[in-house]
Amino acid sequence: MTPHADFGRFFLPGPTEVHPDVLVAMERPVIGHRGPEMRDLLESVDQPLRLLFGTNRPVFISTSSATGFMEASITNLSRRRVLCLVNGAFGARFHAIAERCGRPADRLDVPWGQPNTADELRTALLAEPDRYDLVTVVHSETSTGVLNPVADLCSVVSEFDDVLLAVDGVTSVGGTRIEFDRWGVDFLLTGSQKALALPPGLAFAAASDRALERAASIPSRGFYFDLVEFNRRAGEYSTTNTPAVSLIYALQVQLERIENEGLEARFARHQRMARRTGEWTEELAKSTGQGFEVLALEGFRSPTVTAISLPAGISGPAIVEHLADEGITIATGYGRLKGSAIRIGHMGDHTEAGLEVVLDTATTAIEVATND
Ligand SMILES: *Cc1c(COP(=O)(O)O)cnc(C)c1O
Repeated sequence: MTPHADFGRFFLPGPTEVHPDVLVAMERPVIGHRGPEMRDLLESVDQPLRLLFGTNRPVFISTSSATGFMEASITNLSRRRVLCLVNGAFGARFHAIAERCGRPADRLDVPWGQPNTADELRTALLAEPDRYDLVTVVHSETSTGVLNPVADLCSVVSEFDDVLLAVDGVTSVGGTRIEFDRWGVDFLLTGSQKALALPPGLAFAAASDRALERAASIPSRGFYFDLVEFNRRAGEYSTTNTPAVSLIYALQVQLERIENEGLEARFARHQRMARRTGEWTEELAKSTGQGFEVLALEGFRSPTVTAISLPAGISGPAIVEHLADEGITIATGYGRLKGSAIRIGHMGDHTEAGLEVVLDTATTAIEVATND
């Protein structure tokens, strides 16, 4: 099937536009989730999911949004105190989840647009070596477009015996290379509706042996999000509860599409779209003589989402609205950056040609806003 004529106009940084072939997959009949057909379906997605996570371990599938597995990482992996690395809204969400789950937690904040660094993490862990047993970090911070140096953070955490690292990979898994095993991550999660370009409703995660041992030692780890159960079920190609079967059909088709493109080609495409969006921002700053800037520090920019801070007097929501009038969807800044930034999601199946249309239309919107 050729892409729908309207495909390629929805550039939110999640949910991401879903290809029509993937949507159609959900029309297959629902099957019993304890039968052989379900087992075959889950077996067919097992290897492709492991490739996306860079792991030889099973990848868990949860019928929930990604936040479910964020909560699971807190309730299953911390007995003592959590250190949450925060450089944006989703890092802060991890801390809020810990508090709401009754787990003591501290924040290590850096300014939005900056990465969380290995040195700062080491200093915090060394200050009181027995204080924390879990560190959380967001790989690609969707609110700022920063890609955190997860491999470096992992090696710091591995210097401490009893500390685990949980990573939110919601806008990185499927958008950039993940090396779960080689980096030595303990828990890494994502959701269906961002870089994987599936409809919302599924979450995926991998857990290390250390993580599973920790989970098994925590009796009050919850029921729906019990990682020990997820691991047991994944090992036999089954699910903990009734899964969203139709979404798993969509997953199967999308994983085939990803394999056909090739992981390296897919990651390179995202990288080129991020670079192009950065160049466009620089051109805009030059041509207008105003302060348009990519929020994320150079060298730490996510390949899947770009946040652009706007000069005073230019409103993010006004630009978003102008694009909406042209049938194109992008996002305003997140949270406190709502008025003063815009965000473009260039993940999933978006093309460079599609991105050019968005950028051209945004240029016009900004010219209109500047002359107002
Ligand atoms: C969207 C997002 C989430 C929340 O995902 P839900 O699927 O809505 O629960 C968490 N972290 C990051 C980085 C995100 O982009």
